[in-house]
Amino acid sequence: MKYKTRNDIILVCILAVLASIIFLFLPKEKGETLLIYKDGILITTLNLNSDAKYDMEILEVIIENGKAYVTNAACPDKVCENTAPIKNKGESIICVPQKIVLKIAGNEFDAVI
Ligand SMILES: [Zn+2]
Repeated sequence: MKYKTRNDIILVCILAVLASIIFLFLPKEKGETLLIYKDGILITTLNLNSDAKYDMEILEVIIENGKAYVTNAACPDKVCENTAPIKNKGESIICVPQKIVLKIAGNEFDAVI
């Protein structure tokens, strides 16, 4: 019984440490909405929770498993296409040559550029 008690204390300590580590690394809030801007104008909003493909002719925006990314970009540098998928509030993919900005917002549209 003595050992069990000590192990319980150790377990609680480990859990407390883990909880604080998770808390430190979890400030990012999962996004709910993808905002798409062209020339600084909001042209559409997409729900991140449902898979979709949005064809803009000059590039395609894919929403898959709550993440958004760019494919088939017609710009020369392909920076937007090579940007890792975004999913957390505040993250963005920017296509400089085509003046397109994809930005993740939460439930409320507070992400104004
Ligand atoms: Zn691009």
